[in-house]
Amino acid sequence: MIEVLPESAGSGTGSGALLEVENLHVEFHTRTGVAKAVNGVTYSVDAGETLAVLGESGSGKSVTAQTIMGILDIPPGKIAGGAIRFRGVDLLKLPEDERRKIRGEGIAMIFQDALSALNPVFPVGWQIAEMFRIHRGMSRADAKKKAIELMDRVRIPAAKDRVNDFPHQFSGGMRQRIMIAMSIALDPEVLIADEPTTALDVTVQAQIMELLAELQRDSNMGLILITHDLGVVADVADKIAVMYGGRIVENAPVHELYRNPTHPYTKGLLESIPRVDLKGQELYAIKGMPPNLLQMPTGCAFHPRCPYKQEKCVSEVPPLHTISGTRSSACHFWREVLDGDAQ
Ligand code: SF4
Repeated sequence: MIEVLPESAGSGTGSGALLEVENLHVEFHTRTGVAKAVNGVTYSVDAGETLAVLGESGSGKSVTAQTIMGILDIPPGKIAGGAIRFRGVDLLKLPEDERRKIRGEGIAMIFQDALSALNPVFPVGWQIAEMFRIHRGMSRADAKKKAIELMDRVRIPAAKDRVNDFPHQFSGGMRQRIMIAMSIALDPEVLIADEPTTALDVTVQAQIMELLAELQRDSNMGLILITHDLGVVADVADKIAVMYGGRIVENAPVHELYRNPTHPYTKGLLESIPRVDLKGQELYAIKGMPPNLLQMPTGCAFHPRCPYKQEKCVSEVPPLHTISGTRSSACHFWREVLDGDAQ
């Protein structure tokens, strides 16, 4: 748990969720122009809840996460607007030393590539123990004991014997467990996992997802799972936000999204999931490429790839239509998508 945050940072007026991102805009200023990487993103996660943020690379999902963590490179990045409220306090208005306290203790993050996130020249136990020495002021011996406990908790076999091993001595799955141990060391209230299973084989992916779900249940954390793979989150997410070209294009509780997607991009992603019952059939792929953020298409950013496209899509940016209390879709023709009437 973290200390009570200073009132000077202001209090939130949003939904009251544990972590709320509201109308966030992030840009990258490059020599060739301004790339709007995050364009009005709004989402939230509560204690004990899992939000999956889904999208292809370049959709803005990881940039949003880095902005929440306060680790975005500024410049070239620039936060052009919006708010990120943690327990009602806007993190974007906090001085850096206050934000540093929240990183790790309030909100922690697991990165996609454990091998480059871990320091190759220090034993893994030393790296986990460092969290306790720096943030909790523990002695070397106590911090090491805590590191072994954590390695046990994330199910690293023979943790006591392996505490002095180096990252390269572990398999990819075990290194990801060590990253998870480091991220939960300070009991964060929100954990952001950015593509935590991308580099792992399918069996290990399932084990890591199971571990994250178990840790979340035990400590009632809010969990934000960032992924490009809808198949990975079906069993663990409560709700999904789908991102495309820096915007949220669909929000839905997980089972509703799988049953009845209302955005053609989500529908395409679902149809791209390999299915054992369709063995021998060609796998569906969304045609075309993700948009170039420096040259975004006019109107709906998805229109060059969309089988439902009509004239209106080329000229008018679709707003995020509310379909029901918890469902929304940024598609002019979401009703047709629901009915399955492609043009
Ligand atoms: Fe497709 Fe038009 Fe909907 Fe965009 S607004 S997703 S182009 S139908």
